Amino acid sequence: MQIEGYIHSFETFGTKDGPGIRFVLFLQGCPLRCLYCHNPDTWNKEGAKYIWTSQQVFDEMYKVRMFTKGGITVSGGEPLLQPDFVSELFRLCKENNIHTAVDTSGYLLNNKIKEVLRYTDLVLLDVKHIDTEKYYSLTARPLEPTLQFIDYLSEINKPVWLRYVLVPDYTDAEEDLIRWAEYMSRFRNIERVDILPFHQMGLHKWEQIGKDYKMKNVRTPSKEEIDRAEHIFKSYGLPV
Ligand code: SF4
Repeated sequence: MQIEGYIHSFETFGTKDGPGIRFVLFLQGCPLRCLYCHNPDTWNKEGAKYIWTSQQVFDEMYKVRMFTKGGITVSGGEPLLQPDFVSELFRLCKENNIHTAVDTSGYLLNNKIKEVLRYTDLVLLDVKHIDTEKYYSLTARPLEPTLQFIDYLSEINKPVWLRYVLVPDYTDAEEDLIRWAEYMSRFRNIERVDILPFHQMGLHKWEQIGKDYKMKNVRTPSKEEIDRAEHIFKSYGLPV
């Protein structure tokens, strides 16, 4: 029986979510509640625009394969909330030599997710903070599962691109950047680190879903602030 996926949307010219030009699939549902979330309309699985089988998604992607030569990235929301669907989709991709990436917060890990990772070439992992209390304030969930997730990725030597959203007054304290870099520098499977400057792109979506957006007055970090974070990460040998 084909497994259905709850899908928010897809993009056929993704250039920011993995190597090359990619087909990017955004799945519906997320267990985190990040204060700066750009896609709060993905939080609940019920809001899915499409309910498609993995074969249907594969066929959709296959139509544009001449343009999306980089492969496929499954993002969200949290794609690993639907592990059976993603496993089946990635298995089809690997049978057809298509590069697979998953973009996750690393909050969930179980045997089904380990199965997804067998068919995954690259993990894009957001470690949103290194301080446990600040992580909780930012995401409404504990940090520990994400640290266990990255330990597992290291154990299976899975290539990882780390992502860090730089938010003035929330994630940019020098001591936190140093602790984050020091912690991550122990892993040998990190191929790249991207610093993503906070911006206000999600504001209208929070208004649409009628939720209070606490980041209304937060600014985008300056070039100097981004350079400073980059300098700290590089000083620990991270490939920024
Ligand atoms: S993990 Fe991503 S989708 Fe989920 S709340 Fe955080 S930013 Fe939004």
